[in-house]
Amino acid sequence: MHFNHYSDEGALLAAAVVNERFDSAADVVRLAAEHDLLLERAPTADDAAGLRRWRTALASVVDAPTDGERIGALNRLLAAGTSHPRISLHNGPPHVHFRPDDVAPERQFAAITAFGLAWFLTQRGLHRLARCGASDCSVAFADVTRNGRQRYCSTRCANREAVRRHRSRSPSVPAFAG
Ligand SMILES: [Zn+2]
Ligand SMILES: [Zn+2]
Repeated sequence: MHFNHYSDEGALLAAAVVNERFDSAADVVRLAAEHDLLLERAPTADDAAGLRRWRTALASVVDAPTDGERIGALNRLLAAGTSHPRISLHNGPPHVHFRPDDVAPERQFAAITAFGLAWFLTQRGLHRLARCGASDCSVAFADVTRNGRQRYCSTRCANREAVRRHRSRSPSVPAFAG
């Protein structure tokens, strides 16, 4: 896992973990593949259970009401999820890991999301991790946009909210269900 994976990619993966159910090892396999995370071992039901707990720890960063509490939650993540940095040769050129070689998938996810999120939020702005601003959506997202003003998890939610705002300004337009 290369260093840039510990930055934007780590933050995007952290948000994806918050949004994932982790019903089984297959969910761990799929999420790793979607984020180009090369797992060193095959995920088990224990990894899925561990990631359900880790999801709660990550959500405490998303839902922290103040910057101070957000930093406190990040420091707890770093303490629980990373170990001292070391250089690995396991895959291609030498690169830095914040975990030992050959650990369970749960620990790979923990190291990359803890360090990635801490690095991303301190480098690019503590506000760049949030839940969707749509009234009926609570999906978490990492804001990797250039200007850092993302408010919704997706274009779909942004469009729905725009329609809703428009309707609330136009009482003559009848609302329809669906
Ligand atoms: Zn690696
Ligand atoms: Zn949304």
